[in-house]
Amino acid sequence: MREAREKQEPGLPRISLTLGHLYPDQLNLYGDRGNILTLQQRCRWRGINLRVVELGIGDALDPDAYDLLFIGGGQDRDQAPVAQDLYETKSIGLWASIEDDMPVLAVCGGYQLLAHYYRPASGPDLKGLGVFDAWTVHRGARAPRCIGDIALNWNGQTLVGFENHGGQTYLGTARPLGKVLKGFGNNTQDGTEGAIYRNAFGTYLHGSLLPKNPHFADYLIELAVKRSYGLHWRAGSGDFDGLSIANGTHTCEHTNGKTNASPQTWEEMNLAESDEAPGVIIDPIVKLLSLDDSLEWEAHCAILERLGLHSAANAVLRSR
Ligand code: GLN
Repeated sequence: MREAREKQEPGLPRISLTLGHLYPDQLNLYGDRGNILTLQQRCRWRGINLRVVELGIGDALDPDAYDLLFIGGGQDRDQAPVAQDLYETKSIGLWASIEDDMPVLAVCGGYQLLAHYYRPASGPDLKGLGVFDAWTVHRGARAPRCIGDIALNWNGQTLVGFENHGGQTYLGTARPLGKVLKGFGNNTQDGTEGAIYRNAFGTYLHGSLLPKNPHFADYLIELAVKRSYGLHWRAGSGDFDGLSIANGTHTCEHTNGKTNASPQTWEEMNLAESDEAPGVIIDPIVKLLSLDDSLEWEAHCAILERLGLHSAANAVLRSR
């Protein structure tokens, strides 16, 4: 089944996305780079070309050049130069991207620097960008860290990963990503994990997060495709990989890496015609072709089992 995914016939222009990977040298703990590899592979399996651009200290962030962004986690000492550069070099581009609903995934140290501030174990506060109405305080070098496997409830589904942070994050008006089922999450008190602002997602889940949570990886890809290509569909133009749109109807002739009968990369997209402007397609439903994720769900359930969340693990296996 897996090798079948690789085969891709040449065809019409494919969908291309560009991911900006912020501070890969400073913020890359506990396999955070694995999130990039997962997004790349899951795109490739759907015939989507995902280009990755690394943005380091001093690199400007042009909001028009990217379709999604990623920032990983790091030690306190590595967060200091990143905080300064985020503020001085990337804040305008990052804010413009986020206010324009670009999907952003920020893990641990990166998540902390997208909130108002991070007070490290020692040294001055690190000013954040305030994207998430939240703040983080490290309890001090001697205080126990929040370390271990973690599982949370995200919109009725489970997310699993590994956390290791000294900082305790407190939410103001920011919506949490989810509720902790087992583990610490934002802090040791309120049972919340992560934060959401528009399509920006902050989380403490390392591990890395996306390989063991294929549903969340696909959610980010769908958000990016919908945001970056939705406009094309609205304008009723633009053939992608055999997808053509005319007057509210569409036909699909696609290639796929899977071995199922009908060649199709995208699942049926419900397109509705706008009353005001006939021919203008509104809000296409973007749904990626589902993949054989049995290995990913096995790894996901292994963490649920390790955390003693047996019924949650069974529910996941039954639903797949
Ligand atoms: N240095 C931060 C803390 O300890 C973030 C750690 C991380 O990114 N894993 O809380």
